[in-house]
Amino acid sequence: MDFLNSRVDEILLNNQKYFVKRDDLLHKDFSGNKARKFYYFLKNDLNGIEKIISYGSAQSNAMYSLSVLCKLKNIKFDYYVSHLSSFLKDNPNGNYKEAIKNGMNLIVGETPKAFKEKELFISEGGAVKEARFGIEILANEIKDWAKKENIEKLKVFLPSGTGTTALYLQRYLPFEVLTSSCVGNDEYLKQQFKALEKDKFPTILKKEKKYHFGKLYVEFYKKHIELLNQTNIEFDLLYDSLGWIVFENYVKNLQNQSDYKFLYIHQGGVLGNKSMIERYKFKFSMKS
Ligand SMILES: *Cc1c(COP(=O)(O)O)cnc(C)c1O
Repeated sequence: MDFLNSRVDEILLNNQKYFVKRDDLLHKDFSGNKARKFYYFLKNDLNGIEKIISYGSAQSNAMYSLSVLCKLKNIKFDYYVSHLSSFLKDNPNGNYKEAIKNGMNLIVGETPKAFKEKELFISEGGAVKEARFGIEILANEIKDWAKKENIEKLKVFLPSGTGTTALYLQRYLPFEVLTSSCVGNDEYLKQQFKALEKDKFPTILKKEKKYHFGKLYVEFYKKHIELLNQTNIEFDLLYDSLGWIVFENYVKNLQNQSDYKFLYIHQGGVLGNKSMIERYKFKFSMKS
């Protein structure tokens, strides 16, 4: 499998112009930032590896992408979760359903601490140094695009989980990379950067309110619908709604704003939206 350079769209959101890098459209099965992060493992010979082992939540985007990778490479995939709700078990949906279809072996319990020679362990969310390989390609696509468009002053934004994508993008881009923490707080995100590299960290934009990952916030749902209505692009509800709230606020308050162009990286993840939207409708009695 190979994918082409993802395209860049120009959008207008609340009367502000932005560009959007459409990594959600990279490939129908292997897309978003997980495709970038795992590209190294896709492209390289896995040297006799027979099984990939990872862990995290039962609805993780990384889990789904690893299931695709293992299927393509014809290797086994063990995925550890600390807990699996009986609801999800009985009503499989989203990433969980698709990963099971791809042959994932889901194990409820402790992640092993030691591995055999033919096993490859990948830490939660794909926070691994090998991720730099695919993210450098993303950075090169952005540099080429900016050059072609004669853009010299660019601010690039993407929301972070483990921060791996933002970290390596900043390493390979001559533009400032901005991000916001979505999974832990800003301190956690900084620790994540430090676990992988010593320096050249992206800028973490402050949030006005504290959010807990995976919880439902009515403003996230509203931002999702607003984005869909104004741009015709479906964004993810876990990262992008918060990301856009933070990024729009930053752009609005930026001095010399008109000197800059703004690029948002769409990192995929829309497979989980269906069940999130059902939860929102149930909790807030949304009409759609
Ligand atoms: C995984 C994911 C992220 C977070 O990526 P990190 O590299 O862990 O920061 C952001 N957005 C989407 C849609 C994702 O699937």
